[in-house]
Amino acid sequence: MAVIYDRVALIGLGLIASSMALAIKRGGLARKITGYARSSQTRDIARELDLCEVCESAVEAVRDADLIVLCVPVGAMGSIMEDIGPHLKSGAVVSDVGSVKRAVIASVTPHLRDDVHFVPAHPIAGTEHSGPRSGFAELFDNRWCIIVPPEGADATEVERLNRLWVGMGAQVDQMDADHHDLVLSVTSHTPHLIAYTMVGVADDLQRVTDGEVIKYSAAGFRDFTRIAASDPIMWRDVFLTNKDATLEILGRFTEELFALQRAIRTGDGAHLQEYFTRTRAIRRGIVEAGQDTDAPDFGRTLSKKG
Ligand code: NAP
Repeated sequence: MAVIYDRVALIGLGLIASSMALAIKRGGLARKITGYARSSQTRDIARELDLCEVCESAVEAVRDADLIVLCVPVGAMGSIMEDIGPHLKSGAVVSDVGSVKRAVIASVTPHLRDDVHFVPAHPIAGTEHSGPRSGFAELFDNRWCIIVPPEGADATEVERLNRLWVGMGAQVDQMDADHHDLVLSVTSHTPHLIAYTMVGVADDLQRVTDGEVIKYSAAGFRDFTRIAASDPIMWRDVFLTNKDATLEILGRFTEELFALQRAIRTGDGAHLQEYFTRTRAIRRGIVEAGQDTDAPDFGRTLSKKG
């Protein structure tokens, strides 16, 4: 594959940035990758993994970069942009991978110079693991990346970023920031909140011991715990910055939950069965679209310890 950007700078060197570095190298999509993380510990690990040329400051990492990708929690993007803004090369493209888009655009835009482009994006791919060691080149393969071009974005630069994500294995869609935030509150943000709650409830419940929760977790709880193990800072920022859409979907969720609660209390089996039949079809659609495996137990390797 051809080089798409001469120099790419990754700010933040966690799961997403390290996966990007590996996927860019796999595809030969850039001639040089620089990177920066705020802690020396993360920078040392990134050096040990030979992810990219690790710099001692964000300013040093972005100097001469053609593409700068902000890969930090959404609440940190504005202040990083403020620091690096004056040091960007004329004509450079700034992008990000934040899970929320309206708030990122609002915090980054004030610090952008007129001669710099901004093309926000969000890869819909991740795991519950964090940090540079958790990255892998295949993370974005066959996953979607949503590009959210602000009004007046340069079409050539939007297309170029599109090609980078395709080169990293993703399929690309475009939408506006508000729609992105609403869609993601349905598919990601509210489900995470529900998983956090369910795991919190199990933790609080005195009548079921911790040992029992762990021993019988394969009955469903285990899949909540995977989601609820996601990075606390990242998710704190998601809920603080995608407040309106999350509250709207959470309101609808609560209404549906009450309806199911009433169906259980009144013995309305038809309602429960119709509801679960509808939700099962959604699962089938996700598997058919290649976004998850159909294998029993989500393809987990069965071990004797189970
Ligand atoms: P991560 O593995 O936790 O890495 C975060 C990186 O940001 C680390 O290098 C960390 O530096 C740095 N950082 C954290 N707080 C910072 C601050 N206040 N100022 C400067 N740097 C800071 O996170 P990630 O999963 O890669 O997520 C990065 C971004 O991708 C987030 O915006 C998230 O919303 C988005 N995203 C995540 C997923 C996912 O599933 N994880 C999926 C799609 C998009 P140190 O290590 O030095 O602390």
